[in-house]
Amino acid sequence: MAPARCPLSDSRPSMSSALLASSLTSYSEKKDRSCLSQKFHDRPVRMAEIAVVFDFDKTILDCDSDDWVVDKFGLSEAFDRLRPTLPWNSLMDRMMMELHSRGKTVEEIADCLKEAPLHPKIVSAIKSAHASGCDLRILSDSNVFFIETILRHHGIMDCFAEINTNPGSVDAKGRLNVSPYQDFYHLSHGCKICPANMCKGAVMDKIRSSASAEGKKRFVYVGDGNADLCAGMKLEEEDVLLPRKGFPVWDLICRNPTLVKARIREWTDAAELETVLLNSVDALGRLENGNAKAIRPIPVACKFQTSLLDAAPKSPTVRREPEPCSSVV
Ligand SMILES: [Mg+2]
Ligand SMILES: [Zn+2]
Repeated sequence: MAPARCPLSDSRPSMSSALLASSLTSYSEKKDRSCLSQKFHDRPVRMAEIAVVFDFDKTILDCDSDDWVVDKFGLSEAFDRLRPTLPWNSLMDRMMMELHSRGKTVEEIADCLKEAPLHPKIVSAIKSAHASGCDLRILSDSNVFFIETILRHHGIMDCFAEINTNPGSVDAKGRLNVSPYQDFYHLSHGCKICPANMCKGAVMDKIRSSASAEGKKRFVYVGDGNADLCAGMKLEEEDVLLPRKGFPVWDLICRNPTLVKARIREWTDAAELETVLLNSVDALGRLENGNAKAIRPIPVACKFQTSLLDAAPKSPTVRREPEPCSSVV
């Protein structure tokens, strides 16, 4: 059985230190948490104009929730064997069917999810951003059962105004059904970055539209994967993208920073994400207050590749890879 795979021990290839230093700002603006919290509460109206959209797996959660359940229930071999024959989302539904056939209950699946690693710093960051008045949303290719189970367990479910993900529901027989966000058997989104069941860029457009209608002016996006770049490419110059350092979205940006119009702040782990996230929304609040220098522009210095698809990283130790639209079965 393969061990559970968590990103912090992942040894995927990444860019050289010199290149990274030239392409992304190193975030050294460590601020005192209590000062930040006080600043938030000084400007509740402006903070309400900021929407923060989080990826879930390897961003809020420290590992991939699908991998976690598959590995913990001993389904790794079956998953890897069927992987070439099914899209990821359909394969997860197959795995849930397998668990049901083995007599595993949804309560056991929920208990497994509650053990998945979610750092306390992530919880405090989410609670602080929510308390400041920011509009928090999730955009994930996991499923609603997994995400809600984990968020409730950590007491942060109510911090989020919206969860955009694949449906996941329990039927009358007690079997968890996972289905695609988009019915890709009948409608292709046409995006070559994202898996067939969900184009994060297209969903980001919807989020942007609905949030803007509610008065949101600035967006922060946090993520780690290839599809998070698709969402990040929907950000405007005044927005902020927070890519996880050393992960696919960060590799792609390093190779072609011009893909993203938004300001970029990298982060490595939960503690750094808390600092970067709270400083970013604080800076956006100052920006809204007319201080255009609140966030420094990012030097764009590593344009050695222009093709996004050419730049797609090879990550042999990671299960979740981009699926071309033609992979629809
Ligand atoms: Mg992710
Ligand atoms: Zn896409």
